[in-house]
Amino acid sequence: MTSKEIRQAFLDFFESRQHHIVPSAPIVIKNDPTLLFTNAGMNQFKDYFLGNSVPEFKRVVDTQKCLRVSGKHNDLEEVGVDTYHHTMFEMLGNWSFGDYFKKEAIEWSWLLLTEVFKIDPDKIYVTVFEGDEKEGLPFDQEAYDEWLKWIDKDRILKGNKKDNFWEMGDTGPCGPCSEIHIDCRSESERKEVAGEDLVNADHPQVIEIWNNVFMEYNRLKDGSLQVLPAKHVDTGMGFERLVRVLQNKQSNYDTDVFTGTIQEIEKIAGKKYDGSDSKEAVAFRVLSDHIRAVAFAIADGQLPSNTGAGYVIRRILRRAVRYYYSYLHVEEALLHKLIPVLSSQFESVFPELNLQMDFVSKVIKEEEESFLKTLEKGLKKMDDIVRNPQQDRVIVGKNAFELYDTFGFPIDLIRLIAGENNFTVDEEGFEAEMHKQKNRSRAATTVDTEDWIVLSAKDGSDFVGYNDLLIETRVSRYRKI
Ligand code: ATP
Ligand code: MG
Ligand code: MG
Ligand code: MG
Repeated sequence: MTSKEIRQAFLDFFESRQHHIVPSAPIVIKNDPTLLFTNAGMNQFKDYFLGNSVPEFKRVVDTQKCLRVSGKHNDLEEVGVDTYHHTMFEMLGNWSFGDYFKKEAIEWSWLLLTEVFKIDPDKIYVTVFEGDEKEGLPFDQEAYDEWLKWIDKDRILKGNKKDNFWEMGDTGPCGPCSEIHIDCRSESERKEVAGEDLVNADHPQVIEIWNNVFMEYNRLKDGSLQVLPAKHVDTGMGFERLVRVLQNKQSNYDTDVFTGTIQEIEKIAGKKYDGSDSKEAVAFRVLSDHIRAVAFAIADGQLPSNTGAGYVIRRILRRAVRYYYSYLHVEEALLHKLIPVLSSQFESVFPELNLQMDFVSKVIKEEEESFLKTLEKGLKKMDDIVRNPQQDRVIVGKNAFELYDTFGFPIDLIRLIAGENNFTVDEEGFEAEMHKQKNRSRAATTVDTEDWIVLSAKDGSDFVGYNDLLIETRVSRYRKI
């Protein structure tokens, strides 16, 4: 099956079980002070779970663009090094808002994976919450019993609070979760039961694909738990991981989700991707991953900038530039050339990229060219610092700040290059220098140019939604910045 067919089969399966298909929310969040980017399918439904609004449909299904590069979920450092954590990924999800619960959710997960997608049941492990006496949380007997109807008891593992209990925050809806893991090792290796040593243990071939969260409690301010009158199901399946399993690959980057972009990079760089652990292969993976995050964030209204969410996007973009410059030896802007491939690949599912293709390419190209101007000098500076460190194996705060301020190196890029040289960064010293500079420039502060301000008639701080997108306005706005 192609990735397109796999996505569609997921949506169709739940649609035929009375789920309403909804579009992905934007990857950029403009109206929630607790979150910069969508990092899970449930974000757009948060108010239903909190009881702040009433859902129009009790059953919903979608594929949600997610970004995990900041806050509670930050996978940036794994990306490209492993083959299954991305910055931007699609989370397939089905929801029940006070409707069906564990029985249906578990049965449908099983039927979809084994009957529609025909995954060999001998490759599947599931986990259920083992309970936590100290917290007064019970073992999830109900989920265990439901799984037992479908799968051998040796394949049902018990997991702790960290992996198998989900909470939105210190208070609010929460509940146990049940995850599905796929053992992609060869048949002979699979004879040895995976068990706890391999499941949830960062094994590159035994990977988590789906999380089923059962919201059944409300955590109160005093820490106690109240049973919710209406129980909800919230699930999230990593689309790229599912495709990898179904296309029988050892890496997400070998699936048709990524091969189009990788082939384009091969053409531009005049090099072949070999899937190894070499720096060059990591660079291929990083580029084909990061371009998605940057492109979809811009298409959803977040321009690269020097503050907040915009700076997160700039950091990802600069990280990618450094990878192609240092490891593929490409010295000209490359990322923007990948946009046509991406936009046609996602045209039917996320049309916002195709609709704004020229704009997105232009923004990325300008960003790349501007960083490439200082990159070489910055890398030389970094080299000098590493050769003559002011402190043994440490990039001192002053040096780190100079790299940041003069050469535009984001701190995580400095950290990355430092690590490659077995150096660490004096982060406190860096922060202190940053603080000093802020004080110096405070007097001359101008208004912070957040990227969407001009677009909102009201006060500029709200995301205005696709219907109100005025691409031309944004182009001219960008020119002004
Ligand atoms: P992991 O343990 O692999 O980091 P997780 O437990 O943090 O995953 P969940 O929060 O349970 O992930 O999200 C639901 C699903 O989304 C996961 O089962 C996985 O398939 C997928 N997923 C999570 N993080 C990523 C990522 N960075 N890239 C790609 N898919 C991801
Ligand atoms: Mg994770
Ligand atoms: Mg996990
Ligand atoms: Mg999980």
